[in-house]
Amino acid sequence: MKKFKVGIIGATGMVGQRFALLLENHPWFEVCLLAASPRSKGKTYSEATEGRWAMKAPIPEKMKDMVIYSATDDIEEITSKVDFVFCAVDMKKDEIRALEEAYAKHECPVISNNSAHRGTEDVPMIVPELNPEHAEVIDAQRKRLGTKRGFIAVKSNCSLQSYVPALFPLSDYGVKKALVCTYQAISGAGKTFERWPEIIDNVIPFIGGEEEKSEQEPLKIWGKVENGKIVNATSPEFTAQCIRVPVSDGHMAAVFVSFDKKPTKEEILKRWKEFSGAPQQLELPNAPKQFLHYYDEDNMPQTQLVRDIEGGMAVHVGRLREDTQYDYKFVCVSHNTLRGAAGGAVLMAELLAAKGYFD
Ligand code: NAP
Repeated sequence: MKKFKVGIIGATGMVGQRFALLLENHPWFEVCLLAASPRSKGKTYSEATEGRWAMKAPIPEKMKDMVIYSATDDIEEITSKVDFVFCAVDMKKDEIRALEEAYAKHECPVISNNSAHRGTEDVPMIVPELNPEHAEVIDAQRKRLGTKRGFIAVKSNCSLQSYVPALFPLSDYGVKKALVCTYQAISGAGKTFERWPEIIDNVIPFIGGEEEKSEQEPLKIWGKVENGKIVNATSPEFTAQCIRVPVSDGHMAAVFVSFDKKPTKEEILKRWKEFSGAPQQLELPNAPKQFLHYYDEDNMPQTQLVRDIEGGMAVHVGRLREDTQYDYKFVCVSHNTLRGAAGGAVLMAELLAAKGYFD
């Protein structure tokens, strides 16, 4: 595999910092440019993240002294220097939509963590193990944008990365409806305990916009590519409550599910154990060996104990049992800034690189 030159747009933020660490020694991708808001322009990466480096590992040595570009003012220069960019910025939705299209129109593919384009019909939203075939829609998107190379591909919301991976392998039993309650980590809000002391010893029963995303985005993942668009599925029906809890990293979901054709418990466990997808078959650098880990112990999966397994890229499931109102209930955990954000985006980029979309 040829080594691709990549930029991180939003490099100073919580997800941007994760990208920096994940890409530090990546075998296919080499970070050669960092960008953030005009406020950070001209500072070195160390200066721009001083007092807000939120990772346990230190700033990558080779990025420390890189001088930050302005993501909005330096598009011409940035796109001339890289093969593609990862993007995770905190801006208004319409500004992000315009920014990402501007990069794509400069023939620079954008692998995005932002939600702005998740509803765009010809923008694939890929969980690499589940719907890699949605990449096919990129040809139609390039036609619309008038580009040869440039396109946008997005990652889904972090909350659903905990429960959709467990439900998707059960699709042919007809997943009819699912009720999910998510217990979401503070890094999902770009926060640490130092920066958000009010969350200690507290639970906040609201995360703006999260329940809508948790209910609607899965339907795109279950959707089909038809005539250059992704047509959303109409089932499963989801209902969600999303709650912020005092955990640094790792989203948990309590799931209740009913099927058209109820599988046995053994059939569900077998599906989870045997499920793998394109990342495992292609042996992508960040693919977990085992995508779904099931735990028999009643007190598992605990966030702190499982979130970092397989580089934070696996999804953890436990407590599968029959329910009195739905067919089954169970609990899932995934690392929200690794599998749920930067790691999921890097894996998607690896999939697209392996399939030739950056050539
Ligand atoms: P964050 O920590 O607040 O970082 C925001 C980044 O955006 C910083 O690099 C900031 O640069 C940059 N930025 C802000 N205003 C800008 C502007 N006008 N022009 C260009 N860059 C600008 O946010 P985050 O948590 O990393 O989230 C970033 C994106 O990823 C959001 O869309 C979020 O919804 C999404 N996301 C986050 C998570 C998560 O777990 N945190 C998960 C999935 C998706 P400065 O430092 O210069 O201000």
